[in-house]
Amino acid sequence: MAYMHRNILELKNIGYSYHSLHGETKALEDISFGVREGEFIAIVGPSGCGKSTLLSIIAGLLTPEEGTIVVNNPDGSLHYPKIGYMLQRDHLFEWRSVYRNVTLGLELNHKMTKERLEAVERLLEDYGLDKFRDKRPSELSGGMKQRAALIRTLALEPQLLLLDEPFSALDYQTRLFVSADICRLIRAAGKTMVIITHDLSEAISLADRIIVLSGRPAVVKNIVSVNLTLADDSPLAARNAPEFQQYFNTLWEDLTHED
Ligand code: ADP
Ligand code: MG
Repeated sequence: MAYMHRNILELKNIGYSYHSLHGETKALEDISFGVREGEFIAIVGPSGCGKSTLLSIIAGLLTPEEGTIVVNNPDGSLHYPKIGYMLQRDHLFEWRSVYRNVTLGLELNHKMTKERLEAVERLLEDYGLDKFRDKRPSELSGGMKQRAALIRTLALEPQLLLLDEPFSALDYQTRLFVSADICRLIRAAGKTMVIITHDLSEAISLADRIIVLSGRPAVVKNIVSVNLTLADDSPLAARNAPEFQQYFNTLWEDLTHED
């Protein structure tokens, strides 16, 4: 897409090892790629290869041992982009109402301003959760819980959303719809996204580019730009695109042929 040209972040030769009494576990080696403004990037790779480690480094939770991350904001400023993080489980608190869950991030960050709370109101309405604001999380469907988790994340107005296998706790059918739904909402909000998934079909249907990692220590095996010819660019329709199977085969080859 034409508006996606500028790298807001650039990872250059990132390396990382965990150190313990038992020795060193090298998780990442020489990882380089850019994250463009408004882009959806999927990261795929074998279990335990270093995907979550990489996301933690992008989030600024871990400092890379080797390499650098270059920030390149649209307005020329040098501050690190504001990050929103969504994990495997929705992490909603059962003892809080839906409303008090979606405002939790604001509360913890002392950002319960009128503007932010109005933005939350709009999201609750847009996402159809308005009527459920006084319910407990257990009274919501899996999809509604993920929507609530997304509102909580978006309330802090992140520029870059990082999602670590956010749908893997859902059953297959639900996941198809919820992942398409959540990604549509993130696109509509104009955010940049990096998502880890172990589901190749999910990666192809959601992402603009797919970063394929090798087994541990993870190196970048391939970077696949996804271009599907579709009248309707919804993630569900993407699975019926004529090119879909070809992308799947490419990724499958990359993942199963270790060299
Ligand atoms: P993935 O998300 O791809 O499954 P991770 O990034 O979680 O992989 O982990 C990569 C490797 O680093 C694994 O071998 C894991 O056991 C190891 N690892 C992850 N976190 C720690 C930690 N805190 N201390 C030591 N080793 C870790
Ligand atoms: Mg992980």
